[in-house]
Amino acid sequence: MGGQPLYLEPRLESRLRSLLNSPVLLHTLTEALGSPLHVVVPDQLADNLQQFRSVYGARHLSGQVFFAHKANRSSALLRRLAATDAGVDVASLGELQHALGAGLTPDRITATGPKNPEFLWLAARTSVTVSLDTRDELEQLVTLVRKHALPRTRVMLRLSEFETSGVRVLSRRSRFGTAVRELDPLLESVERYGDVVDLVGVAYHLDTTSLTEKATALEGCLRVLEECRSRGLRPRAVDIGGGFGVNYLADGGQWERYTTGLTEAVLGTRPPLTYGGHGYGLRNEAGTLRGALGLYPAHRPVAGARYLDELLAHPAASLGGSPLAALLLDHLYDLHTEPGRALLDQCGLTLTKVLEVRDQDSGGPLLVRLAAKADDVALEEHGVLMDPVVVPRDAHGHATGSGSAPGTATEPVGTYLFGSRCLESDLITRRTVFLPRRPAPGDLLAFANTAGYCMDFHATRAQHQPVARKVAAWQEGDTWRWCLDDQYWPTTPVGGAQ
Ligand SMILES: *Cc1c(COP(=O)(O)O)cnc(C)c1O
Repeated sequence: MGGQPLYLEPRLESRLRSLLNSPVLLHTLTEALGSPLHVVVPDQLADNLQQFRSVYGARHLSGQVFFAHKANRSSALLRRLAATDAGVDVASLGELQHALGAGLTPDRITATGPKNPEFLWLAARTSVTVSLDTRDELEQLVTLVRKHALPRTRVMLRLSEFETSGVRVLSRRSRFGTAVRELDPLLESVERYGDVVDLVGVAYHLDTTSLTEKATALEGCLRVLEECRSRGLRPRAVDIGGGFGVNYLADGGQWERYTTGLTEAVLGTRPPLTYGGHGYGLRNEAGTLRGALGLYPAHRPVAGARYLDELLAHPAASLGGSPLAALLLDHLYDLHTEPGRALLDQCGLTLTKVLEVRDQDSGGPLLVRLAAKADDVALEEHGVLMDPVVVPRDAHGHATGSGSAPGTATEPVGTYLFGSRCLESDLITRRTVFLPRRPAPGDLLAFANTAGYCMDFHATRAQHQPVARKVAAWQEGDTWRWCLDDQYWPTTPVGGAQ
């Protein structure tokens, strides 16, 4: 196998850990509903929301947490969200309809992203707040509201390309939002159409892990709010989007060792760690390491609500150096956030059945074929490297790693995990995955923490293979209960989901 196994064990909090310790249930579910199968855990979403709320509370900030719907299509998650006091950020007509149907009232919904006329109409018709990307979009909305005699619409202005010195662009360019230097004509339009639109605030969403980039953007928004006020407008909120991140791995040391090992493998000083020597963005040019690692930082000690807290503690250099939170509080601005991935942390897992296990003549990694397609477990799509957990078929027997099956079942093995499409490239992950024991056909490989983007964002119906089913699971005392995702309502669990 070439050296020590390099594990990347998933971080498991109590709910997912308990589910994974319920092998009879997991095997019953996949026998009934097929593989792959997604399991979502709606109650975890409510707990994650509380963590964001407590950051607001500690800093005395008001405002709303809007769950970014696009991260998961689940009805159960959305209906559980409706039973809290949070909001939802919708980015399509379908998502808006879904949110309204789940019980989220328009005052708890914001519409972002590219908008077709139907989406804009339903948003304006129901008095949802609309986040506008451009002056063109504002004009479209104004025309629509006037033509159909719709109510005056609350709008946010989405901004981008924030600058600190007036020269250096400190946040990345984006297809979305209006560059801050083009703000003037936009504000003139907002003033002109004051009878039709009500400017409630400004917004940004940056798809980056960089705290300083986000702090620059938030600071930029605070300056824009001041400018609005000096013009007589009365905006009162700033929406800082999502991108708070998730910590996927249990052990930072494993991540260090793995990424070091990958670098060495690319340079050829240790055996390959990937199928076909794939380098995840790194390459070897005549003995020199080139490129950049295109991976999600899977071990992130500061993620989710903690990341928000650090952002709020960041000093605003151009505004006297106070922490951003203090400036928000001084002006009594509402702080809106739109976490997607972070609110779905530990909210679900994906079960895949092992169909075939084959040794290679060459002695390389075991070839393991799963009843799933790569896009059913789209970890690779997001550059998230994380091991699955083996749930043995012999469910009454042994926990992972302590199996006593005959042969080599207790030895660690390196594997390539293939999907079920007739494609050479249908690898669930291009990485050699080390498992603590040799899997057998009928075992399940459970991919933990897949609720954010990995379940259905990339799912297709290629080759007439059905899209994976989804169930919602919750605990009643020590017992796990479940139903199909679209059967779940907050009244479903006995005792209710409060
Ligand atoms: C995708 C998206 C989000 C959520 O991003 P995460 O990284 O999942 O937190 C929030 N706001 C907007 C506008 C988005 O497009």
